[in-house]
Amino acid sequence: MSIEVRTPTLITKLPDVGTTIFTVMSALAAEKGAVNLGQGFPDFDCDPLLIDVVADAMKQGLNQYPPMTGVLVLRDAIALKIEALYGRHYEPASEITITAGATQAIITSILAVVHAGDEVIVLEPCYDSYVPNIVLAGGVTVRVPLTPGTFRPDFDKISAAITTKTRAIIVNSPHNPSATVWTKADMLRLQDILATTDILVISDEVYEHTVYEGQQHQSVASFPGLAARSFVVSSFGKTYHVTGWKVGYVAAPAALSTEFRKVHQFNVFTVNTPVQYGLASYMTNPQPYLDLPVFYQRKRDLFREGLAHTKFKLLPSEGTYFQCVDFSAVSDVSETEFCKWLTSDIGVAAIPLSAFYGNGFDQRVVRFCFAKKDGTLKTALERLAKL
Ligand code: PMP
Ligand code: GLN
Repeated sequence: MSIEVRTPTLITKLPDVGTTIFTVMSALAAEKGAVNLGQGFPDFDCDPLLIDVVADAMKQGLNQYPPMTGVLVLRDAIALKIEALYGRHYEPASEITITAGATQAIITSILAVVHAGDEVIVLEPCYDSYVPNIVLAGGVTVRVPLTPGTFRPDFDKISAAITTKTRAIIVNSPHNPSATVWTKADMLRLQDILATTDILVISDEVYEHTVYEGQQHQSVASFPGLAARSFVVSSFGKTYHVTGWKVGYVAAPAALSTEFRKVHQFNVFTVNTPVQYGLASYMTNPQPYLDLPVFYQRKRDLFREGLAHTKFKLLPSEGTYFQCVDFSAVSDVSETEFCKWLTSDIGVAAIPLSAFYGNGFDQRVVRFCFAKKDGTLKTALERLAKL
C-alpha cells in the first residue's frame, strides 16, 4: 500500500518578509570578494580577557541551565552599571532579565504586552525586526517618519499618531540606521507626550556606549516618567565586540518584568550560562565600555576623512558604528541597485536605507559600518576613491 507523501501548504504569517537585507548583502559581499561594510559587526576580535573568563566559567563546570531570569551576578552587574550611568536603580531580582540578544528582548517585550488589534508606533526608518514582531503579536503597526534629511523625531507627528488603541512606541537611540542620537530635550518631550497615557515604551539602546563628540547617551532609565513605562533593551554584542554571542538584557519595572518573564520562559527559558558568568566578571571593570566612544570615534573620523575625497555627501554620525552617505552625485539608480553595483563592481558592500522603511522609501542614502580594522577601512576607502 502506498501512502501519499505531501507537505501541507502554509498560509504565511509574514507575507511581506523575505530574507533580511543584512543576510542578502553579506552573501553578495562574500560571493564577490567585496569588503563587507554592510551588515553591522566588527571584523576584529574581542578582548582576550573576555574569552578567558568565559572559558574559566566553562572549566569550573558552570555549564547547566542558569536561573530562568539569568545568573544573579550578571543581573547585579547590570543594575550597578545602569545606576552609575543613568541614575535609576533596577532591582536585579525582579526587574532585570537576561535575553538571547536584543532581538529576543524586543520580540519578547512585544509579545508580552501587545494584544490583537493594539497599535504600536514605530519611527521610520527602523530596525527590521520591529514590524514583523508586531505582526506576529497580532498588533497593528503605526509608522511615523523621522524628519526626512535630518532623521530627527517629529513630536507633532508622534502625538498625532496616538489613539486610544496605542499600546506601545518603539524608540531607538543611538539610531540604526541614521546614526543620529536623541537629546535630553527629545527625551523630555517624549516623557511629556506620554505622561497622561498608558502607552509603554520599548527603548532599544543597543548602541548606548557609542555616542561621540563627548555627548551623553540619554537612556529612558534617566527619566522617571519614561522609566516607569519602559522596557530598556541592550546587548553585549555591540559593547564588547561579540555580536555572535547573542546575550542582552531587559530592564523594566517589576510589573512589566513579570509579564516579560512569563513569555521569556517559554521563548528561550534561559540563555547560555558560561557566557553570562564571563560577562559578569568582565563587567567589574567599567573601562572597556567607557573607552568605547574614543575607540569608535577614531574609526569614524578615519572613515569620514577618506570619504571626504569622494562624491558622497556625508551625513552626521553622532552615534552607533554606522555612517550614512547620500550618493545622488554618483548615481541615480535606486539604493538597492546602487548597493548591488557597489558590492559587485567597486568591491564594497553597503546597506540601502530603503530596507528600513515599510514602503521602500528611496532617498539615495546608503549605510556603511565602520566597526572594522583600520586596514579594512583603508581598503574600502581605496576602492571607493575610484568613484
Ligand atoms: N536593535 C538594533 C537597532 C540593532 O542594530 C541590533 C543589531 N543587530 C539589534 C537590535 C539586535 O541585537 P542583538 O544582536 O543583540 O540581537
Ligand atoms: N544590527 C546589525 C545591522 O544593523 C546586524 C543585523 C543583522 O544581521 N540582523 O547591520
